[in-house]
Amino acid sequence: LNYHTARFIISAPTLALCPPDNGREVAFAGRSNAGKSSAINALTQQNALARTSKTPGRTQLINFFNVGGDDGRRLVDLPGYGFAKVPEKVKLEWQRHLAEYLQRRASLQGLMLMMDVRHPLSEFDEMMLGWADEQDMAVHILLTKADKLKPGAAKNSLLEVRRRLREWEDLVSVQLFSALKRQGLDEAQARLDSWLAE
Ligand code: GDP
Repeated sequence: LNYHTARFIISAPTLALCPPDNGREVAFAGRSNAGKSSAINALTQQNALARTSKTPGRTQLINFFNVGGDDGRRLVDLPGYGFAKVPEKVKLEWQRHLAEYLQRRASLQGLMLMMDVRHPLSEFDEMMLGWADEQDMAVHILLTKADKLKPGAAKNSLLEVRRRLREWEDLVSVQLFSALKRQGLDEAQARLDSWLAE
């Protein structure tokens, strides 16, 4: 699929206001600052499709993009989670919306989960993996900002995350990724293709 033709469709504050639940979509999730916006922009070869932000956690909307001019194939940018400065009440509200989206969205084929290669598998990441597991939802993890580590250290992080998730290896795959160096784009796009092409 031609991800560079991705276009914004709509922002939804709740599941009820999402576009019709038909066709196929893949959701992108991650802790605030994990590099989710940069990954979406790199994968779609667009500089500003998803907003990269210096004030993490601000966007609480679910943003939908179509792929290939067809609203029946969508990339979905979920709100970043786990930003410390957000009040507890707001955090719980996000968690409710994220869980509801993952549990109820029939067109959702898979979850791309962004984790900083230097701090993978946070409490919030585990929560997302738990929800995905409950739904038998496939997950592809991008260990982002791989350029921040030496190649050997990045590889070790990859192997360690794979080891810790071995129990779920049927549903979960993991790769190194760098939006900055454009590393891992083909592998990530191949995974998106496997979910979005029928
Ligand atoms: P988001 O909050 O998950 O959407 O994260 P962003 O995409 O906004 O990125 C958070 C910060 O990490 C920004 O300062 C980015 O410039 C930086 N960043 C994102 N991807 C990379 C990468 O591949 N390499 C490096 N070195 N920095 C990155």
